[in-house]
Amino acid sequence: MAAAAASSFSYFPSPLPPAWSESLYCLSPEHVQERLQDDAVETVTSVEQAKVEDKIQEVFNTYKINHHVPRSAYCAASVASLTNIITPKLFEGTAEWIARCQNWEGGIGGVPGMEAHGGYTFCGLAALVILKKEKSLNLKCLLQWVTSRQMRFEGGFQGRCNKLVDGCYSFWQAGLLPLLHRALHAQGDPALSMSRWMFHQQALQEYILLCCQCPAGGLLDKPGKSRDFYHTCYCLSGLSIAQHFGSGEILCDVVLGVPENRLQPTHPVYNIAPDKVVQAVMYFLQKPIPCVEEEVAASSAATD
Ligand SMILES: [Zn+2]
Repeated sequence: MAAAAASSFSYFPSPLPPAWSESLYCLSPEHVQERLQDDAVETVTSVEQAKVEDKIQEVFNTYKINHHVPRSAYCAASVASLTNIITPKLFEGTAEWIARCQNWEGGIGGVPGMEAHGGYTFCGLAALVILKKEKSLNLKCLLQWVTSRQMRFEGGFQGRCNKLVDGCYSFWQAGLLPLLHRALHAQGDPALSMSRWMFHQQALQEYILLCCQCPAGGLLDKPGKSRDFYHTCYCLSGLSIAQHFGSGEILCDVVLGVPENRLQPTHPVYNIAPDKVVQAVMYFLQKPIPCVEEEVAASSAATD
């Protein structure tokens, strides 16, 4: 099917400019303290806020220590983009490192030369999408690798070559296809479908619905395994990806079985509801930008 114009394909309608188009402020302990002291009173909200900010700081500390792993890069890029604090310095060298983790198979490993793995591949590509550097990868090789991970008999995905099918890769692997679709569309690939992702969406839904559901509730890796929260989350996330293609005018749903099987769409980059992404972006766009304010104050003081 002929591809539509390059600008017409997006995951979801977005009236907002990208949250990370400008370099904004740096998270530092002083800023956290300033905001709490501004309140002048310790409230439940400010205590909870401090906990959240501590957690965010933990993510960034982990990133600083262990940023040579695509998973940490994705966590940091995800939080930083939603909270509008990306600076060029924060992600200096990240894209180049992730690109080095793409190996001869086409997927991404934990470090250069390591076996390609669905979790690292999703985290690596999603981090590059956030940083707008997905061109750093060989996307066609990645596409070949991930589409070869959908099992012909089971319909679900394996995480690595020659491994067994596993329900959680319904998201880590199938979730790569929307990211690849957009990246290849932006490059003007004329062979792209405008109604289907590049995997067998019905077959994946069959595997999740028939093989991964625990009769007592919850979802699991494969028949014979126990249910758990991790597999419940990622089986459902993968099911949502398999049900919904595109958004807005280009929307094509494929829901297997009864209409009650239909899930809400999930954002392919953040794996949370698209409206929550918009809410977070809008909220943090309105927040003051300490670094910019400090620079303005410094420059006006210099001219006084
Ligand atoms: Zn699993």
